[in-house]
Amino acid sequence: MSSALSASENGSKVTIVERDEVLGGILNQCIHNGFGLHYFKEELTGPEFAYRFRKMVEKDKNITVLTRTMVTELDENVAHVQGKGGMEEIRFKACILAMGCRERTAGNISLNGTRPMGVITAGAAQKMVNIDGKMVGKDVVILGSGDIGLIMARRLTLEGARVHAVFEINSTTSGLRRNIMQCLDDFNIPLYYNTTIFEVVGKDRVEGVYYGQVGESYRKLEETRKFMKCDTVILSVGLVPDLQLLPNAETNPRTNGLFVNEYYQTSKPWLFSCGNVLHVHDLVDNVALEGKQVGLFASLYAQNKLKKGEIIKVTHSSDFSYVLPYTLFEGEGEVELKFRLKKKVVKKWIKVTSAGKELCKKFVLAGVPGEMMTITINKKDAHGEIVLEVE
Ligand SMILES: Cc1cc2nc3c(=O)[nH]c(=O)nc-3n(C[C@H](O)[C@H](O)[C@H](O)COP(=O)(O)OP(=O)(O)OC[C@H]3O[C@@H](n4cnc5c(N)ncnc54)[C@H](O)[C@@H]3O)c2cc1C
Repeated sequence: MSSALSASENGSKVTIVERDEVLGGILNQCIHNGFGLHYFKEELTGPEFAYRFRKMVEKDKNITVLTRTMVTELDENVAHVQGKGGMEEIRFKACILAMGCRERTAGNISLNGTRPMGVITAGAAQKMVNIDGKMVGKDVVILGSGDIGLIMARRLTLEGARVHAVFEINSTTSGLRRNIMQCLDDFNIPLYYNTTIFEVVGKDRVEGVYYGQVGESYRKLEETRKFMKCDTVILSVGLVPDLQLLPNAETNPRTNGLFVNEYYQTSKPWLFSCGNVLHVHDLVDNVALEGKQVGLFASLYAQNKLKKGEIIKVTHSSDFSYVLPYTLFEGEGEVELKFRLKKKVVKKWIKVTSAGKELCKKFVLAGVPGEMMTITINKKDAHGEIVLEVE
């Protein structure tokens, strides 16, 4: 919606194709607050945030919305869609991918044990509780301390379940600090680091889990194996960009999203990408801002107005998981680089150089892999490979 509004503002006609009944994506099931602090300078719930954008989209005469319509195939300048009227083709000059992400499942993480009812991903549980009004279980353990798992720990507690533990295989959480405090600490829910589920037990319904600590390379330390009774296992073990539409596309193994240049343009010039389908975001405000930028770029491309220059590669030291965009164009102007750290960093500088010359520095009091960070550079002094380092 953010991309559509910005493309429209810049003179394009836009069609939003959405497979769901309403626009808003994952926001519609995120009934907790914590959305919009940066974008609207207000604390909103997910549905409230989505509603504000829906209202703006509804008023915009340049935007056509097709709901309950799924893009099934994408070719240059044409989207094949299946909607209320059957199969149709939509012709375009530029296309913005904003399909969000999917959750990793028990199969994806090779979860050991039986396959009883009661093993469910956090987002699916969230949809059942918040949209369908159904409880998933009474005695819950959560695997993974990602934000959705943390939010669900609180949500299920408020709905009357007992959340016995959150197990995190790493020594740090990938969730936001505020979510650890507000969703676990405030409800006395223990978080066990370096710990995972060894085995799920149960025939028809989950009866419990064997869990324990992990050593180097996530080796299970069998001597620490213990049993915890529960009837539900919630998996919050990561999100993966949903690129089913482009099964053979080259992706960055760290983000699982497409490679994009400064304009969020992929290797196919007519195809742009933003939001969780490009890299998983922790804050929707950043998704909306990214969408807004990409809407402008796609609109300029459609009007043959996108200016390019010599390509400059953006790379990083091993302290980073990724830095995005992956290339810039030589020229004037500021560009925001987005990155995630690999490990926790305390009181360090993030330094950006181009062809060995320092472009800028940013002091980081405490940076964790769970939080996407940014640094803005001025391109005028960039004349060679851009490298990000922790100093
Ligand atoms: C549980 C949870 C809690 C969160 N909590 C917070 C929070 O407290 N504060 C905060 O700021 N952010 C939070 N976030 C993050 C933020 O909400 C998301 O990062 C953001 O909303 C993602 O937006 P998106 O548009 O990229 O993807 P999505 O919201 O996933 O939207 C993608 C849309 O594309 C549609 N789609 C996909 N494929 C097709 C297709 N082939 N054809 C047609 N339509 C298709 C989907 O139906 C969906 O509507 C949370 C996220 C989650 C999952």
